[in-house]
Amino acid sequence: MGKHYEHVKGTVDFYPPQSSLFQNIVKEARNLFILYGYEEIILPILETEAVFAKGVGSTSDIVEKQIFRIQDKDIVLRPEGTAQVVRSYIENSCSKQSDVHKFFYIGPMFRGERPQKGRLRQFHHIGAEVFGVENPALDGEVIALAYMVLQKSGIKNITLKLNTLGCAQDKEKFSARLQKDLQAHHAKLCELCQKRVSVNPLRVLDCKDPSCKKIVASLSLGKGHLCDECQDHFHKVTETLKALSVPFEYDPFLVRGLDYYTNTVFEFISSALGAQDACGAGGRYNNLVKNLGGPDVPAIGFALGVERMLLLREDFKSPPVVNVFVAYTGETLASEARTLVYELRRQGVSADMSYKPKSLKSQLRVAQRLGAVCTVIFGEEERKEGCLTLRNMRESTQQKIAVEDIIPALKNKI
Ligand SMILES: [Zn+2]
Ligand SMILES: [Zn+2]
Repeated sequence: MGKHYEHVKGTVDFYPPQSSLFQNIVKEARNLFILYGYEEIILPILETEAVFAKGVGSTSDIVEKQIFRIQDKDIVLRPEGTAQVVRSYIENSCSKQSDVHKFFYIGPMFRGERPQKGRLRQFHHIGAEVFGVENPALDGEVIALAYMVLQKSGIKNITLKLNTLGCAQDKEKFSARLQKDLQAHHAKLCELCQKRVSVNPLRVLDCKDPSCKKIVASLSLGKGHLCDECQDHFHKVTETLKALSVPFEYDPFLVRGLDYYTNTVFEFISSALGAQDACGAGGRYNNLVKNLGGPDVPAIGFALGVERMLLLREDFKSPPVVNVFVAYTGETLASEARTLVYELRRQGVSADMSYKPKSLKSQLRVAQRLGAVCTVIFGEEERKEGCLTLRNMRESTQQKIAVEDIIPALKNKI
């Protein structure tokens, strides 16, 4: 026996029916994006580290702990989509072609840290990014779209948490006040947060350490740091969500651990997922395009974690692998059966048959496993009578049908 190989830790093989559920989620998302006027963007898995250090932030978990480096070059496996889409948007001078761009992407992302429950090395994001629109109605629409993608994928019991960080100046004000408030509890913060207080106090709000969580919970956060314009923006976002019947909870503690967010931030959570409870998140990032060397263009986006969505869909019933299974008795009837299989496929009806002679009973078992709606039986008896047996697999009934009528009869049943 040869060596037995195992998958890389933190990666997942999607076997049927999980792969079918995966594709189902992707298909529903793609249909919705198209309905909302988004265009697909397909980007490489490899990207330079600087894009994320500058984009996501060099003190974010993603860059500090999770980046997946290749050799010792500046090249990394992309950890998220937003900074990369922005890089591509700038590089391709998109803003010169049109003032508004709506992109979506679906693909794998990578994190290099030690894998743990709910945290994979390779995972998949369904994401969207919109460039060139300041209007708060868009924030509402983008959030509603993400919510629709989750709902269309059959995910229930989703809570939408919503907050605003304000513009860069508001965020700075908020950060300074937070820093002052946290300094008072400095000794009780975890080691990492003691450092964060001076470098990036917002990150303390995301800390999972119980002592930090207790301190954070005692803080009184609100919208005091917001300028009038940002207050108004947020109000209009909530108005749009109400108009679109998307339920939300205002959460002043929601800041998201990435540097690029300004104004609207949101997160979709489900209690079914345990500690790693977010299955998607996003927000506005009005300064990122400029910070990455592009024009001054506002933007907003979100990303949903496909693997987390899969966990929330355990009730999924996969569609049939083929609609029609063609069974035959004896080698002599195999070629006639094969002709029917080919003809069905040519006419757009999924069909399959056994590649070697088997008992009728075991062929019916295969048909069952494939979820076939109908099985057509080529037997000696049928041959003598010039007909075929059509078995309805769901009702376990069967009837004899003239050879020339079989395809219309099958099309009628599926
Ligand atoms: Zn502001
Ligand atoms: Zn902490």
